[in-house]
Amino acid sequence: MKEVSTEDRCHDEDLMYADESLVHSTNVDETLREELSESLFKQAVDHAPVAISITDLNANIIYANKAFSKVTGYSQSEIIGKNESVLSNKTTPKIAYRALWERIKQKKPWSGLLVNRKKDKTPYLAELTVAPVLDKDGEISHFLGMHRDSSELHQLEQRVNNYSQMISAVINSSQIAIVLIDAQQEVVLMNPSFKKLLKDVCRDASQTESTSTMLSMLGQSYKDLVSDGKGFNGIELSINEGGGNQKWYNCNGKSIDLENEKPGAFFSPPESKHALLTFYDITELRRRQYDAQLNALKASIAEEQMTYATRETYSGAIYQLQGPINLVGAALKRLLNRKKLLAPEDPIIKALQDAKEEGEKALEQLQQSMPESVVQAKHPVNINEIMKNVISLSIHKLLAQGIIVDWQPAKKLPTVLGIESKLVSAFKALMDNAIEAMDDSSVKNRELIIRTMATKHLVRVELIDRGIGISRDLRFKIFEPFFTTKKATVNCRGMGLSMVQETVLEHSGAVFVDVGTTSGCCMVVELPFN
Ligand code: FAD
Repeated sequence: MKEVSTEDRCHDEDLMYADESLVHSTNVDETLREELSESLFKQAVDHAPVAISITDLNANIIYANKAFSKVTGYSQSEIIGKNESVLSNKTTPKIAYRALWERIKQKKPWSGLLVNRKKDKTPYLAELTVAPVLDKDGEISHFLGMHRDSSELHQLEQRVNNYSQMISAVINSSQIAIVLIDAQQEVVLMNPSFKKLLKDVCRDASQTESTSTMLSMLGQSYKDLVSDGKGFNGIELSINEGGGNQKWYNCNGKSIDLENEKPGAFFSPPESKHALLTFYDITELRRRQYDAQLNALKASIAEEQMTYATRETYSGAIYQLQGPINLVGAALKRLLNRKKLLAPEDPIIKALQDAKEEGEKALEQLQQSMPESVVQAKHPVNINEIMKNVISLSIHKLLAQGIIVDWQPAKKLPTVLGIESKLVSAFKALMDNAIEAMDDSSVKNRELIIRTMATKHLVRVELIDRGIGISRDLRFKIFEPFFTTKKATVNCRGMGLSMVQETVLEHSGAVFVDVGTTSGCCMVVELPFN
C-alpha cells in the first residue's frame, strides 16, 4: 500500500476550518508564519497527545499520528490507506454517521461520541471531532479527524450518574425526612417525606414559610450549625398535626462542605457550607412509651386507692370500736367510784374490766395491722401533663357515655412540687365523679370542661360537668370519709373525695365546689407552685 507523504498534503494553508473558533486565519502574521517551519508543524502533529488523522474526501486515511496508533492499536503502515470505518464497532446508530457527514459536507466541523473498536477488537468510546480542510478555492480537499479514548471518563460519568440515581431513589423512598439547605438558607434538596412533614407543620403555609417554621423549632442548635458548622443529634420535635394528632420527630443536623463549581474557584478550598437535616418519625415509639407510662400509672393509682381504702376501712373500724370501749370504760369508772356499795369481787366489775381489756387489745391489734401509707418524694410536675394523663386514662368511659371533653390547658403553667401518681389518682377520682354525674338520661348536654390556669401563686384546675350537680348544703359534707349520695357498694364506699382532699392537703392546696356554677358542678383544685 502506498504511503502518502504528509508533507505533500498537509500544508498549513490547507488546515482551515469552517467554524470560526477553529479557523486558522489566512491573515496570520506573515513574519510569525515564516518562523514556523513546516517540519515544526509536522513534529507538533506527530507528537500531539491526541489521535489525529487526515483523510481524503471518502474518509480514506492518508495520515495518522503516533497517538492514533496508540489509541487504536493500528501501526501507521497498517492504517494508512484504510477507511476510518475500520474503527467502527458497528454499534453506533447510523443516524450519528449521517449527522457527521451532513455537517462536514457543509464545511462545518462535527463533534460527538462514537463507539470505536481497536485492532484487538476492544470497543472504546471515541470523543471525535471531524473538520473539513479547505483548499485555496474554499473547497474541501481533506478531512481532519481528532479523537481520544474517553471510555474511562464515560465510565466515571456513568458511575457518578448511577450513584446519583441510586442515592436519589434511596432518599426519595426514605421514610426519613431529609432536607439540604445552602449557606443562603435556600433549600437545595428535599425528599417527599420532608415535603409531607412541612404540610403537617403548617397545612396552609408555603413551603418556604413552613421550612423556616421548622428551622425556628430547632432554635439555637440550628443557628450553631449554620454559624460554626456544629452538628447536633437527637433533638426531639413535637408537632401537632391538628385534630389532636401529635407527632414526634428526632432531628439530627450535620454541616457539609460542597465544592464550588465555578472554574475560578478550582484551587480554592471548599467554602460552601450546607446544612443537612434529617427527621426520624418516632411517634410510634413515643406512643408505646406513653402507653407503658399510663399502664404503670394505672397500676400505681390502683395500689394507692387500695391502700387508702384499706386504711380508711381500718380507721372506720377503729372509730366504731372506740365508741363501745369508751362506754364500757365510763361504766367501769362509775362503778369503781361506788366501790363501797359493791363486793370486792363483784362479777359485773370483773366482766366490764374483761370487756374493756379485750376491746383495747382488739383496738391495738387493728391499729398495728393498719397498712402504712407510703411516703413518696415530691418532684416538679406539670399539671397540664397530669390532666392529659387523666383524660387518657378515662378515654374509654368518656367514649362509652358520649361525653365531649373541652380541654382548655393554660399555654404556660408553672410546675408544682408534687407526687405524680397521687395527683393523677386524685384528678381521676374527680373525673370519674363528673362522668358519673352525667350518667343520667335527663342529662342532654354531655360536656366536660377541663381548664387549667395560673394565678399569682396558684395553679388552678377546674372540672366543670353538666350533670346533676351538688346541692349547696352538701358541698362540704361530700369530702367526709364514707359519705356518698349513691348506694354504697364494693366500688363505691364514699372514699373518693376524702382521698382527693387528703392528697390536695398533702400538696398544701385546696379542693372545693365552686358555688357560682348554675348547671352541673364545678370542682376546683388549687395547688401552690412556690
Ligand atoms: P458507511 O457506509 O461508511 O456510512 C454510513 C453513513 O455515512 C451513511 O449514511 C452514508 O450516507 C454516510 N457516508 C459515508 N461515507 C460518506 C461520504 N463519503 N460522503 C457522504 N456521506 C457518507 N467512523 C467511526 O466509526 N469511527 C471513527 O473514528 C471515525 N473517524 C472519522 C474520521 C474522519 C476524518 C472522517 C471523515 C470519518 C470518520 N468516521 C469514523 C466515519 C466513517 O468514515 C464512516 O462513515 C463510519 O465509520 C460508518 O461506517 P460504515 O461502514 O458503518 O457505514
